[in-house]
Amino acid sequence: MERLIDKFGRQISYLRLAVTDRCNLRCQYCMPAHGIDIVDRKELLTFKEMYRITRVLSELGVNKVRLTGGEPFVRKDFDKFLEMLSFNDLLDEINITTNGALISKHIAKLEALNIGTINLSIDSLNRENFAKITRRDVFEDVYRTLEILEKSTLQLKLNAVVQSEVNTHELLDFIELTKHKKIEVRFIEEMPFNGTGQRVTKENWNYTKIISHINKHYKNITPIDSHRSSTSKNFKIDGYQGSFGIIPAFTRTICNDCNRIRITATGMFKNCLFDEGVFNVRDFIRQGASNDDLKQLFLSIVKEKPENGFIAEANRKRNKKVSESMSTIGG
Ligand code: SAM
Ligand code: SF4
Repeated sequence: MERLIDKFGRQISYLRLAVTDRCNLRCQYCMPAHGIDIVDRKELLTFKEMYRITRVLSELGVNKVRLTGGEPFVRKDFDKFLEMLSFNDLLDEINITTNGALISKHIAKLEALNIGTINLSIDSLNRENFAKITRRDVFEDVYRTLEILEKSTLQLKLNAVVQSEVNTHELLDFIELTKHKKIEVRFIEEMPFNGTGQRVTKENWNYTKIISHINKHYKNITPIDSHRSSTSKNFKIDGYQGSFGIIPAFTRTICNDCNRIRITATGMFKNCLFDEGVFNVRDFIRQGASNDDLKQLFLSIVKEKPENGFIAEANRKRNKKVSESMSTIGG
């Protein structure tokens, strides 16, 4: 089998696929209050196109897919797409990143389809603060989802973007959640992917600051071995059932072992979160490309994968500054 291997010898096995650019929330760190300019529906990849892209990639060694967005459950018939994707026998894992506000009624189906991990984004455990961050008052729906997921057969991870003076006073509350719940909480460094490229933060809550803040409060922290291409560095408080991790998304110390590629909701292929897109696969398909053409395309564009996120950012030509909303990229 031909494999997707870049010029640094990294084998690509993980696709992050954004199924929509639309979202029901307006998280401050992701987009402006009025939302982003969403594209016309016909510019979005169809489910058939997504299935086909995924199938071809899986024939080149991609065995894990994470579905994201925007909010994946905002896309009509997303559950039917999951069903469709589950027929791809070359995939070992189908995972989803969601804000959870719309999903409690779908959980039984997700279990039946053997979905792997659900990454649930929840940036505050306090209703008012949650509403301030997301600009929508849906904390109770999201927390209900958390509780149902916890009891389900699905693996649950919580994602919290660390925002200086917004939720940094809650980091220890998140860790305390892991005392009795067997879940993984992951703190994500905030990045400027928010639709404006500007965000004034008083302090830089990077990996080092987050871990030293936690270290000040707990004496019994044990590092956990993470698999090689893990995006987070993981830890456990002795005696606690769950664990926590930190994702150095902005300090980018994890690029060496990157095994990921991304496809945006409009079919833009990205070798790195920080590049501005290298090829529009949707247009290529709509111009009549065969599966073999797609294979040759993927094999050649992963060779261009930059060594790390800093190089990807420096190589940007159109928008020098990272500013697009994460909702259009698929975080
Ligand atoms: N709507 C879904 C959700 O929120 O989980 C999926 C899409 S969202 C873009 C995917 C992930 O990106 C979420 O965990 C979100 O918190 C994260 N994210 C969005 N904007 C970010 C930013 N500026 N910096 C760091 N993480 C960000
Ligand atoms: Fe929507 Fe997710 Fe962005 Fe929040 S982080 S606005 S839930 S896409």
